[in-house]
Amino acid sequence: MKKLAILGATGSIGSSTLAVYAENIETMSLTLLSAWRNVDKMVDLCREHHVSYAFMSCPDANAKLQQLLEQDATQVLVDQTEFEACIASVEVDAVMAAIVGAAGLAPTLAAVNAGKQVFLANKEALVMSGALFMDAAQRSGAQVLPVDSEHNAIFQCLPPECQASIGHCDLKKSGISQLILTGSGGPFLTTPISEFKHLTPAQAVKHPNWSMGPKISVDSATMMNKGLEYIEAKRLFNTEKSDIQVLIHPQSVIHSMVQYIDGSVLAQMGLPDMRTPIAHVMQFPQRIQSGVAPLDFTQISQLTFAAPDFDRYPCLKLAIDACYAGQGATTLLNAANEVAVEAFLQQKIRFDQIASIAAEVLSKCGDQHATSIEQVMFLDGLARHTALTLVATNVRQA
Ligand code: NAD
Ligand code: MG
Repeated sequence: MKKLAILGATGSIGSSTLAVYAENIETMSLTLLSAWRNVDKMVDLCREHHVSYAFMSCPDANAKLQQLLEQDATQVLVDQTEFEACIASVEVDAVMAAIVGAAGLAPTLAAVNAGKQVFLANKEALVMSGALFMDAAQRSGAQVLPVDSEHNAIFQCLPPECQASIGHCDLKKSGISQLILTGSGGPFLTTPISEFKHLTPAQAVKHPNWSMGPKISVDSATMMNKGLEYIEAKRLFNTEKSDIQVLIHPQSVIHSMVQYIDGSVLAQMGLPDMRTPIAHVMQFPQRIQSGVAPLDFTQISQLTFAAPDFDRYPCLKLAIDACYAGQGATTLLNAANEVAVEAFLQQKIRFDQIASIAAEVLSKCGDQHATSIEQVMFLDGLARHTALTLVATNVRQA
């Protein structure tokens, strides 16, 4: 029995993970669930799945959870320290890292440092800490398996020697010429750029193919998501600049590809449903049921591809540039984007200002180095503060 922890259990990935777990209940047990503040949902999940431990990162919510579960078998962990200790303990074999944003870094790193199997959905944790994250995994022996559909697709198309050395693999030695990272282009693929000023949060979170949480949905609309994934791919697959190509593929049937030097291209395909990559990692290398319907090729009328337009998607360009500017830049970009996306969702800034705020934070904060987690956290705070000031200035001017 694999003892599983789900961080971000009440979210979109958390729910898909619970659905895959329910399909495979005889091979896994649920030890720990965490979330931010949806207490009612957490109580239901703990009771339904007889979970041993639970934790809510919002202190008020955690206190309420403790009250509500007083008579239950689930033990509510008292604080972040106890939460991270539980992740690192013998009670947990594998951790689904599905908290959204930088808040996921500390608990995910706790799992990495303790040598756990880590199912990585929380791309922001890797983007903000990069090589520090992958080096920690190498030191502890933690197996990091990518859940993000593109990275999971690439992982599935890689030869075993690369799969066994995530973070430090040698693509050239394995005859790989390029990783092709596909993206749908989001809901505004054909919207005139002149209308971007007027786009609303409701329009931005309406992704044509995938059902996801609000932050990643907005990131998909700006294609910052593909930019973060570009950085994620560099870290997971140890790429150089010429090794990755971003390709728009609006149908989201192909989830990404690997091209080899002999001209072969391997693609992973499926319905756009996160239960597939989740099921792929949960008992890797064994295949398990995901509950996802098979792909019906007779229903697919066309597969189309195009190069991304950086005028339409300035966030994608910002992220690719940050990727080569170094770790400090990706930490700053991630934090600035989180603040800007939240401000857009709260209707404090316009859609097109997400990119301009991220760009301004990068230029205001300048060249920065991050060679320790402490420096990463410092830069994360600096970028948040700078971005919040820009948001406030904007609100005053509006
Ligand atoms: P979501 O918003 O639906 O869920 C986020 C989860 O994190 C919730 O359980 C929430 O309670 C928790 N959370 C939020 N803020 C927190 C905080 N400050 N402290 C602790 N917990 C907090 O998001 P999602 O769509 O499930 O995405 C989760 C992660 O997976 C993100 O990093 C996203 O980029 C990545 N991802 C998601 C998808 C998808 O299809 N949804 C695909 C690929 C990658
Ligand atoms: Mg993705």
